[in-house]
Amino acid sequence: MTERILSGIRATGRLHFGNFLGAVRNFVKFQTPGNTCLYFVADLHTLTTLENPAQLRDNLIEMVKDYIAAGLDPEQSIIYAQSSVPEISELSLLLGMLQPLGQLQLIPTFKEMVRKHPNNVNLGLITYPVLMAADILGPRATLVPVGEDQVPNVELARNLAERFNNRFGDDMFVVPKMMDQMIKVPGLDGSKMGKSEADNAIDINANAEQIRARYTKGVTDSKKVRANDSGEPYRCLSVYPVHKLVSSGNGCVGVEALAKIEAGCRSGFLSCVACKDILARNIAQLLGPFQEKRAALASKDDYVRDVLNDGGKRARTAIQETVGLVRERMGIIVY
Ligand code: AMP
Repeated sequence: MTERILSGIRATGRLHFGNFLGAVRNFVKFQTPGNTCLYFVADLHTLTTLENPAQLRDNLIEMVKDYIAAGLDPEQSIIYAQSSVPEISELSLLLGMLQPLGQLQLIPTFKEMVRKHPNNVNLGLITYPVLMAADILGPRATLVPVGEDQVPNVELARNLAERFNNRFGDDMFVVPKMMDQMIKVPGLDGSKMGKSEADNAIDINANAEQIRARYTKGVTDSKKVRANDSGEPYRCLSVYPVHKLVSSGNGCVGVEALAKIEAGCRSGFLSCVACKDILARNIAQLLGPFQEKRAALASKDDYVRDVLNDGGKRARTAIQETVGLVRERMGIIVY
């Protein structure tokens, strides 16, 4: 079955390994003949927390380089900046009329932002999922590959699509699907790897030695005190869960089989230091091809601007028509 795939990432800085594994690697997987893929950088969403305009402009270009280096092909996928399609903002406003405020206040990512930044709870933060719904519904995406943390936001987009269809005609929006399996990559402290102040992320440009150095502060099984103590992989918060994602040979590289790592941890034969070393090598091997391509793109800003110009036009064409119909069905005539 052919799909219309859509996803995006905020331009808050360079991608980290959580974005790479949880999101971008799937973007590439879906880039197959027959699928229409739209991948954007969510620069408007970024404004909810980022205040430095020059940095935002730089981040946008650098993230598109990351996308391309990871395997997105501008010939096959529409790569664009969210702000290049003003109709998305208009659609967000229109969909907002159908969205109860109370539900938005319960979204986990909103609650987390309020907890972290109680003095900067701007309107953009609360309407964040509605803008995301406009991103998704505008081009009538059928499948939205995201990490596990984004499930409530995609659910909200699905609800909005259904609500609109019930009120204004059931042929308007496709109710988008999510992937069968989504992941959450833990950071060094065991919480979700993120770009935030937690400083728990692995840089996707790091080499094996740098990754190994970062994992020295990775939180493992607290009961495995000495190197040769017997451990329990499922008590390990930051290393074993990532081994499960990258060391299984399950579409990933596997320098050491996962089963061997588990057995070594339990028997005490494998120390946490050695286990982290294997993980660092596996991650470095996984990132090698990306890093090579990324280095070749380092000075190609003009090329990236061309990609964004072209992608912006193509995305606008894909979205404009839907927004025109939504406007009309809601009773708005443009004179
Ligand atoms: P963000 O960086 O919050 O804009 O997220 C961009 C995409 O990366 C979304 O699809 C997220 O679900 C995904 N993502 C971010 N962090 C992680 C993580 N630690 N594990 C898995 N996916 C993630």
